[in-house]
Amino acid sequence: MNTAEIDTFTARLARFTDKGLALDDAEALADKLVTRDRANDNRRLCPECIHLQGVGRWSCGNWKQAGIGTRAADTGLAHELVVMLQHCAGFKEQSR
Ligand code: SF4
Repeated sequence: MNTAEIDTFTARLARFTDKGLALDDAEALADKLVTRDRANDNRRLCPECIHLQGVGRWSCGNWKQAGIGTRAADTGLAHELVVMLQHCAGFKEQSR
């Protein structure tokens, strides 16, 4: 990794662990994003999104736009979805 990639990796690792991911999972995800960025893949992860709420038990703060559930009580996000690269209509980049 070059210096910019290392800085981005480090910031993501902190963000992902702050959101409740285990260190091993956070490292694997941050590493996956290095590959994604190099490939110009425009899919995103929920932990990169300003709308991800919660720590370890997550919900979406932009559920209508994202198409998650039909009411605020149904906005919980499964772990599998949170760690999956996706295109989401509700995504907004979390500032680093
Ligand atoms: S808006 Fe989309 S990317 Fe953002 S937290 Fe909700 S489901 Fe995830």
